[in-house]
Amino acid sequence: MISIHEAIDSVLAAVRPLAEEEVPLLDALGRATAADVVSPASVPSFDNSAMDGYAVRGAELQSGRREFRVSVDIPAGRFVDDGVAEGEAAKIMTGAPMPPGVDTVVPVEVTEQHDDRLVVLDLVATGANVRRAAEDLAAGDVLFPRGSRLGPAEIGLLASVGCEIVTVARRPRVAILATGSELVPLGQPLSPGQIHNSNSFTAYGQVLAAGAEPVLLGIARDDLDETRRLLAQALERDVIITSGGVSVGEYDFVKQVQEELGVERRFWGVATKPGKPLAFGVRGDSLVFGVPGNPVAAMVSFEMYIRPAILALQGRPDIYRPYVFAAAEEKVKRTRERTEARRCRLLHRGRGWGFSTTGPQGSGILRSMALADGLAFVPAGSAGSDPGAEFLVMMLEGMSAERPPFPGAAPVSETP
Ligand code: AMP
Ligand code: MG
Repeated sequence: MISIHEAIDSVLAAVRPLAEEEVPLLDALGRATAADVVSPASVPSFDNSAMDGYAVRGAELQSGRREFRVSVDIPAGRFVDDGVAEGEAAKIMTGAPMPPGVDTVVPVEVTEQHDDRLVVLDLVATGANVRRAAEDLAAGDVLFPRGSRLGPAEIGLLASVGCEIVTVARRPRVAILATGSELVPLGQPLSPGQIHNSNSFTAYGQVLAAGAEPVLLGIARDDLDETRRLLAQALERDVIITSGGVSVGEYDFVKQVQEELGVERRFWGVATKPGKPLAFGVRGDSLVFGVPGNPVAAMVSFEMYIRPAILALQGRPDIYRPYVFAAAEEKVKRTRERTEARRCRLLHRGRGWGFSTTGPQGSGILRSMALADGLAFVPAGSAGSDPGAEFLVMMLEGMSAERPPFPGAAPVSETP
């Protein structure tokens, strides 16, 4: 058995980043840039007003002038190239380009206008309320380094500089194959002793959520020929996930078939519970994972090793889930020679975190995972502990029903 860190290192050492492709901007959502993205334009691309108000010469204001003649009206989208002369002001809206000659915007709230006569009621600093060209970024600046995930803000920023096409890493294609003669596809009745295949469903969801393309290959019975035939198909993909058949059972054929088909074994057996009999190997550039059949073991193995690999294949450096140290709400049971990943829910406790486990923790109890938004890691050889002991908790995707205690609880009645 190897440690979790050794297993992660072994998997990551086998990753060969995928080729790049060009896609329209919206198709790049959730994907990773395959090259540094250099901005073709500056943001803002012209000096513009940050407020609704009046553009004036700051020097005139500073030297005491409070009255101006409003010479022009500039809504957003209108470019004015006539200069604003001394003693004049331009009425200007937020986002409208600054005309030549002026450098300062007096907000409408501190002015009065009577016909074309403007009275400034309050002094503002020279240069105030103007967004300068290239203030956010300059043409030629690197917007994102290679391997950056493109979320809504990144996609929006790319749109703001006019990028229609983005170079991203190809999405990994992930073959999913369930093994087990007891498995029955959904929609078919169960005979005694049979169960529905659920691992393919959880894996499908996990693969999709990791930004990869799942390819479902169905169920292989515990039969050498069938396992060979289906695994051979699976091996065409970037990542192969088989579930079941990697233990020491009489009909556990997956490792044998992997070897026959030229998969080079990197490890079999990780000192974790659940997930011990995980088998990992490579063939060509393909990463071949044989995860244990127990539904929680399969999901936890994905979280621990396959998800980081899928992200690394796309060139992402940020391949791990975030984690916190959280205090157990209850007693924590002893462990033996393996580190245990207990499914839990994270809770806010003052400024820190607590967690409570999600019921019975057997590796076949998928409900424990469905209720969880974290995995709490109890180190191997721990004697057990009382409530309050702290453990590392890896966050899974989660939302909270608790409204955050946002600052400024008092109602604000004034309109902006
Ligand atoms: P195995 O790893 O093949 O020994 O399977 C361990 C346990 O996981 C057994 O109880 C299997 O019935 C169960 N199992 C294996 N594959 C699946 C699957 N695709 N969906 C649900 N349960 C499974
Ligand atoms: Mg089996």
